[in-house]
Amino acid sequence: MTQKVIIFDFDGTIADTVDALVTIANRLAVEFGYIQITPNELALLRNLTSREIIKYSGISLFKIPFLLKKVKGELKNKIHEFQPIPGIREALTELQNQGYRLGIITSNSQDNVTEFLKLNELDYLFDFIYSGVTIFGKTTIINNVLRQKQIKAQSAIYVGDETRDIEASKKANIKVIAVTWGFNSAEALAKQNPDFLIHQPRELLDVISNC
Ligand SMILES: [Mg+2]
Repeated sequence: MTQKVIIFDFDGTIADTVDALVTIANRLAVEFGYIQITPNELALLRNLTSREIIKYSGISLFKIPFLLKKVKGELKNKIHEFQPIPGIREALTELQNQGYRLGIITSNSQDNVTEFLKLNELDYLFDFIYSGVTIFGKTTIINNVLRQKQIKAQSAIYVGDETRDIEASKKANIKVIAVTWGFNSAEALAKQNPDFLIHQPRELLDVISNC
């Protein structure tokens, strides 16, 4: 049997960074010309797709790369404060023990992710970490990783917390597990028809062994 490769998103999937990202986004709202997120609005945004959120926010598309760069810089100062999602350490360890190969494809920076994994003693679990510079660029990175590492699309599974993760995986023709412990709501994720929708990290093993 070919070894399966499980590729994880980072923010909201492995690391509990959603609240911090909202705080950072609010602090940068005036500078970048988009609306601030109140707690009520956050509940609404969780139900929207990544593309709808951008439209709703009013940010101009050409500013997004600059915003993303700034957000990554701000995250860097807080990286030591972030915690792994409860239960993710155990699930990742078990997956590695079972012989799965684990990797990360993220819109965050390689430095931030590496630093977080080291601080939390999770770095030994991952075979590769790739990061992208655009928020909708994960399909390209997935395709590059599959080609470089000679992984067949049918042996790869992506795990992510946002609708754009589902979109990117489908475009790359790989299976996708959507997780409800991060940013998007279960309803918003379900609408994008992921292959699996799970609510707890401990469900990962079961779902992956049935893929
Ligand atoms: Mg995420």
